Amino acid sequence: MPSSFLPDNVPLPTITYRDEIIALPAGADSAWFDDKGLPMTTQNSSKSKYIVPWDPGVCDKTASDAFKMIKGRLSKKKRRYKEEIPRVAVDIPFPSSDDQSSITWLGHATCVVRLGGKLVLTDPVFSPRCSPFRFMGPKRYTEPGCTIEQLISAGVVFDICVISHDHYDHLDVDSITQLDKGGCVKKWYVPAGTKSVLMGVGVRDEAVKEMVWWEEVTDPSSELKVVCCPAQHWCCRVPWDRNKRLWATWVVKIGDSRFFFGGDTGYPKNFPLFKMIGDLHGPFSLSAIPIGAYHPRWFMAPAHTDPKNAVDIHRDVRSKTSVAIHWGTFPLADELYHEPVTELLEHQAGEDFVALRIGESISSGSKIDCQVHLQRLLESGKKNA
Ligand SMILES: [Zn+2]
Repeated sequence: MPSSFLPDNVPLPTITYRDEIIALPAGADSAWFDDKGLPMTTQNSSKSKYIVPWDPGVCDKTASDAFKMIKGRLSKKKRRYKEEIPRVAVDIPFPSSDDQSSITWLGHATCVVRLGGKLVLTDPVFSPRCSPFRFMGPKRYTEPGCTIEQLISAGVVFDICVISHDHYDHLDVDSITQLDKGGCVKKWYVPAGTKSVLMGVGVRDEAVKEMVWWEEVTDPSSELKVVCCPAQHWCCRVPWDRNKRLWATWVVKIGDSRFFFGGDTGYPKNFPLFKMIGDLHGPFSLSAIPIGAYHPRWFMAPAHTDPKNAVDIHRDVRSKTSVAIHWGTFPLADELYHEPVTELLEHQAGEDFVALRIGESISSGSKIDCQVHLQRLLESGKKNA
């Protein structure tokens, strides 16, 4: 077609962040960013759905995308390991000194973080499946590091619990109900629109704080500073509530100790989201960063990081010690559980970014031999193949 038939070139919207001009894709609006260039919590024009302001629609899928993905999955031989990944006994009630931060991985995105003597829980999922149904849906192939009954009987009380978003592998109402009834969580922090889900299963109004991106509060009882930060993701619990709730990553700070919870996110292609989080709130003593559920890449990449992206996030947010999450627990994508760990090993360049065994803890700043650590997981995976 001759170029004269094309409409005049409409310049792409831009924003400026720290003297860098960033072009946004067509359909984005620079009004969705604040005067410093930070993305604000953004909804569509009818205020019915949240959107990703730096790349609207990036996580949307067509029915034909879903069909192609399922067809590809069915055409492949199902690969599964016969046994679980290695586990170690959880050291309940998570001892640590006030001046040392530590993190314990209980499986998927469920972590216990000790920060300045306070106790933080992330995305608690202890149920056998991550699904709206108890009889079908992705079934865990590794048991959680401990049970909620063990936490209750040990008298564990988490100062705060942060929840990244409403997907079933991150927000499990059975686990929330049990933890709440057992008096295990003093205060829940959730992204905008999510409070009603918790209150719907009996959590008291005053025990839940709903937040939007970049909002920062001091938890009244623990003095922990809690910051809701952006993520590139989407939300849905039933077919008619897509993106009616917000998705987030979280920063938790006290004194010099800082924790970044990556929850579940994609890595923006042309937008420095994690550098922004690092600039504002880093460097972090500890981070939990997702490495799994990334195959097939063409389908998964907008909403899920792969191990290379995860290492990029570790660098962008300036994390001292990072722990791999969102792998080794639920069969959510086409990769086998050990593959994210293999790739994590390939993309590291001497960073302290480790894949723990289920139930294992690590302290911030403890010198980790990641090669040895990751190799041990891989060896165990081969034995079980
Ligand atoms: Zn997830």
